[in-house]
Amino acid sequence: MTSLVIQTAFLGDVVLTTPLLRALAEQTGPLDVVTTPAAAPLLETHPAVRRVIPYAKRGADRGWRGLNRLARRLRAEGYASAYLPHRSLRSAAVAWLARIPRRVGFHDGWRLLYTETRRRPAEGHEVDRLLALAGPAPGRHHMPNLETTIPDRTRAEGFLREHHVREPLAALAPGSIWGSKRWPSFAVLAERLAPRVGIVVVGGAEDEPLGAEITAVVGRAGGRAASACGRLSLRESVEIIRRACVLVTNDSAPLHFAQAVGTPTVALFGPTVPTFGFGPRGPRDRALGVVGLPCRPCSRHGPPVCPLGHHRCMTDLSLEQVLAAIEETGALHRRD
Ligand code: SF4
Repeated sequence: MTSLVIQTAFLGDVVLTTPLLRALAEQTGPLDVVTTPAAAPLLETHPAVRRVIPYAKRGADRGWRGLNRLARRLRAEGYASAYLPHRSLRSAAVAWLARIPRRVGFHDGWRLLYTETRRRPAEGHEVDRLLALAGPAPGRHHMPNLETTIPDRTRAEGFLREHHVREPLAALAPGSIWGSKRWPSFAVLAERLAPRVGIVVVGGAEDEPLGAEITAVVGRAGGRAASACGRLSLRESVEIIRRACVLVTNDSAPLHFAQAVGTPTVALFGPTVPTFGFGPRGPRDRALGVVGLPCRPCSRHGPPVCPLGHHRCMTDLSLEQVLAAIEETGALHRRD
């Protein structure tokens, strides 16, 4: 009987859940997953997933009525087991309302609504913490993975052709929902990289101004750059990252996309730190942050603006440090 996973957290969290999906699928076969409409396209092509059930918890499905509607739908499916990696009352309640007989969650979640709990490790990478939900045999895969389709690849290739950006290319992800996590020097970084690589800026529609600024700077310097912000779908953007020789990113979802497609990553941490469990972990990856700043880290997600006003956790991270980290990945010298 098919098992269900309910994961309606942020995009990055959904990507970091993919090793758990693989581990569970190895135990019970392909799974059904409830996730947000934004994350649904990422899981629709995942080999561990049989079917994605989108749940717009802040949109059309919000409130009690939407929760009940989802619970009725899940109840009709007759799932034997539900896995609840997200510490969310909504997820726990919907599995309970759907009368799924076995509901597996973490001990620090909503224990009264679960039938089994697993201990979430306090330390370590979030991938491994989530994998603990699979039980004593948590699987062999400790990196996330995402799959793109032939149409995704065709569209990404067409986008690069249309903007005359050739490989090798560097992908830059200058955005973040949390303003304090944005490194302010992506445009000057792009200008420095442009003589050696094509530049593609990845992000959502809300990152368009950052994309426009970067492409304008590179264009004035005689390089080739394109902004995919808001112009490509999520999977098409993942495909662009897959083709890139390196991704430079803030602590945001594209970091996890790059991990999932094996692209060397330089991740810039400001108000957060990699030891929270969300850093890159590939052998060629680099994580940078300002060392010795007493206010850092200041929050789990990063505040909208620096509460101290100076934002030194990002402004003190120099262009030269970032360039050196890119060199260390070896990405600009490899052609494989
Ligand atoms: S308080 Fe410190 S760590 Fe937090 S945003 Fe400001 S500079 Fe960064």
